[in-house]
Amino acid sequence: MHELALTQDILDTAVKYACQTNSQKIVTIVLRLGALRDVQREWLQYYFNFIRKGTVAEDAEILVIVNPIVFSCRACGREFEVERDSLYDEDIACPDCSSKNYTLISGTEFRIEGIEVV
Ligand SMILES: [Zn+2]
Repeated sequence: MHELALTQDILDTAVKYACQTNSQKIVTIVLRLGALRDVQREWLQYYFNFIRKGTVAEDAEILVIVNPIVFSCRACGREFEVERDSLYDEDIACPDCSSKNYTLISGTEFRIEGIEVV
């Protein structure tokens, strides 16, 4: 029920925001989601459709922007993107200098990027 708890958080935040800004209605909630996050987007929308009933977010849509998985090489500074599937299959190394000394700089985000209200 991971997604349900997350979705509830999103809704609570959006409703609070609508309240603070004296808004009648929430139109869109934009989510920034890292590709490494184990969140099923279908479930997110499914739960959201269910729990939004009777709130100012009743007609709101969730828009998800997915951030890629990006590493930064500590040896040469190159930033490179890695597909999620490759994380399990391959030995990841910097494409420029083959170093395996790198750090994750994108892919774990989970935040509300914007809330559109009227
Ligand atoms: Zn490198």
